[in-house]
Amino acid sequence: MVKSFYPDTLAEALRIRFDESAIPYAGGTDLMAARRRGMGLLPDFRRPVLFVGHLRECRGISRRNNHLTIGAATTLSEVWEDQRVPDLLRQAMAMMASPAVRNLGTLGGNICHASPAGDALPPLHVLDATVTLAGAEGKRDLNLAEFILGPGRTDLHDDEILTTINIPDSAFTSTWYRKVAPRRSSALAKVSLAAQAVVRDGVLNDLRLAAGAVAPTVVRSRQVEEMLIGHTATEVHGLLPEILGKYDGLLAPIDDQRSTAAYRRKVTLRLIRYFLTRRAWTSDDKIPDGKG
Ligand SMILES: Cc1cc2nc3c(=O)[nH]c(=O)nc-3n(C[C@H](O)[C@H](O)[C@H](O)COP(=O)(O)OP(=O)(O)OC[C@H]3O[C@@H](n4cnc5c(N)ncnc54)[C@H](O)[C@@H]3O)c2cc1C
Repeated sequence: MVKSFYPDTLAEALRIRFDESAIPYAGGTDLMAARRRGMGLLPDFRRPVLFVGHLRECRGISRRNNHLTIGAATTLSEVWEDQRVPDLLRQAMAMMASPAVRNLGTLGGNICHASPAGDALPPLHVLDATVTLAGAEGKRDLNLAEFILGPGRTDLHDDEILTTINIPDSAFTSTWYRKVAPRRSSALAKVSLAAQAVVRDGVLNDLRLAAGAVAPTVVRSRQVEEMLIGHTATEVHGLLPEILGKYDGLLAPIDDQRSTAAYRRKVTLRLIRYFLTRRAWTSDDKIPDGKG
């Protein structure tokens, strides 16, 4: 029998988290699957469970000060349905799990689970998202890249709860999320790429690329992006061998039951090439219907 707590407020939840060393439980789709498999990404169920999915402070989507703020306990379905959410993140939501899992699973849960294959992570890196963590001594904000430390590892302190994900406003002429998996949804990514670009007058004015499932954490390099900004399509084409060589050096994929390291490396470099030579220069974005 697992001891559990259902607090009324965030303040009460934080007190319990601190006093009882309780595990936050939002939708439970990762925690329960890990428990069934009897393996441990944190689900040490000798510790009490703290339900956070209903907390007002962790729910809902709002716009404030040039940011979109998404409560950590907002479900994947709610994120997908909200037109204010950037298309890139909505595209990723539509390819996650199944409708039933998306109705339970939360954005905060996907982040805190910190799976290299987590679908929300590459889009959130590209969108420069930050996370707000509430703890016994107040709140702190971190970039996503600072928060996620490795597979199943985050900088979440023992007294903290993730309350919101914050996305600064931005506009792009091209947006693309590509998940390579055995099926369109209900399957974890072998590799994924989130990409956005701004092209004006035939020149790349902004570029952001983040690859998932090819290293312990999401691979994004502002340095490589900067090398391409300010260039035309022809110039980008000329720079491709050098750029792909740089990304090749950043990838650190593994062999596992879903794919091989060699496949992951090859496909990721092809996706980057495709975006830089074709997709970045068009604006043909469609949000999948999410019925998969
Ligand atoms: C059948 C199936 C298919 C799936 N398919 C996909 C897929 O295609 N892509 C994908 O990325 N994922 C997939 N998942 C994984 C999962 O559904 C997502 O990661 C989901 O977003 C997890 O959210 P949750 O609320 O259920 O997390 P939970 O299971 O409740 O928690 C996950 C982790 O986050 C912590 N946590 C949760 N909320 C907070 C908080 N507010 N503060 C601090 N810590 C918190 C928990 O302690 C735990 O460590 C799938 C899962 C299943 C069961």
